[in-house]
Amino acid sequence: MIKLHDLEFEPFISEGEITSTIEKISEQLNRDFGDKKPVFLGVLNGSFMFASEVIKRFKGDCEISFVKMGSYEGTESTGKVKTLLGLNQELKGRTVILLEDIVDTGNTLVEIDQILKQGEVKDYKVVTLFYKPEAYKKNIPLDYIGMEIPNKFIVGYGLDYDGLGRNLTQVYKRKESKMTNLVLFGPPGAGKGTQATILKDKYDLVHISTGDVFRFNIKNQTALGLSAKSYIDKGQLVPDEVTINMLKAEVEKNEDANGFIFDGFPRTEAQADALEEFLESKGTMVHAMIALEVEDNILVERLLERGKTSGRPDDADEAVIRNRIKVYYDETAILKNYYQKQDRYYGVDGVGSIEEITERLSVVIDKLMK
Ligand code: AMP
Repeated sequence: MIKLHDLEFEPFISEGEITSTIEKISEQLNRDFGDKKPVFLGVLNGSFMFASEVIKRFKGDCEISFVKMGSYEGTESTGKVKTLLGLNQELKGRTVILLEDIVDTGNTLVEIDQILKQGEVKDYKVVTLFYKPEAYKKNIPLDYIGMEIPNKFIVGYGLDYDGLGRNLTQVYKRKESKMTNLVLFGPPGAGKGTQATILKDKYDLVHISTGDVFRFNIKNQTALGLSAKSYIDKGQLVPDEVTINMLKAEVEKNEDANGFIFDGFPRTEAQADALEEFLESKGTMVHAMIALEVEDNILVERLLERGKTSGRPDDADEAVIRNRIKVYYDETAILKNYYQKQDRYYGVDGVGSIEEITERLSVVIDKLMK
């Protein structure tokens, strides 16, 4: 496994497989173009390695240019004009062989196709080492395809991730995580903590309650605890930056987990965005937000009852409880819409016995884990 910037990649296509693919393509090109004095156009940057290997094996005469897409300001009627930078020769009337490392959406290919057609080439063929049929949405024919690959994020053999990885002599794919990550959602007192404690054992997930982490830090009088205490005592939210950094640190302590149950996080849109980006960087995502739906008057009752034994000052004072519920509706409830828009929201009736509610949640989780 290798790491480039923040992402991990695992071996996908070996050097041997790439070489035998290139040999096959080269044989075909020798057969079809050996006596046609073609111009090879390697499309930079990605194709440099592939192009070099193909051209080395070409037995006839040929010319070579490595090109890049560029554009310049044209006239008022043409607007921006696309052009090939780095061409060494006139292409008019020539046989051109375009060497691409990979064709995925086909966007670059369309632009090059237009330029070559305008340049009145005699004939041109597209050769690509890798081809992603699931991603390709254009109808320019691909004449020589080395290997069809699934629509995965790959690096190596000329292909990069943000500038790195082009020098690797084999191809790697983005490491896929098998995690299942759930956001347990709902107003204060909905029963998130109780259910998360049961579900984490049932599904072997790591439970992260940001409220619990804050309380642990307050008890141990850490700097984090001291800075969070004043907000928590008033039933306000701790600032996003503090909470987000704390959450990330908790996840990173458990990199090998099968997944996480996030309880009490995210509570703002900024936190939800940060979580998306953070999990994405780990090759995973929030698979579902599961909400426990409970009416307000039941919540206040439950929290006051809990306050008698929980030892939490924010459960003992009805004004603080009401403020927490208000903050939930003002700042947190909008997240329902955030996940609903992406079909990742599941509402569950949060009134009933603990067992009944676990059962309702399990129906959703079982489907997700199938
Ligand atoms: P909880 O145990 O989830 O009810 O959280 C108790 C208190 O901790 C909340 O009222 C907030 O003051 C603070 N807190 C917990 N999670 C967050 C969060 N994601 N963002 C901001 N503040 C939080």
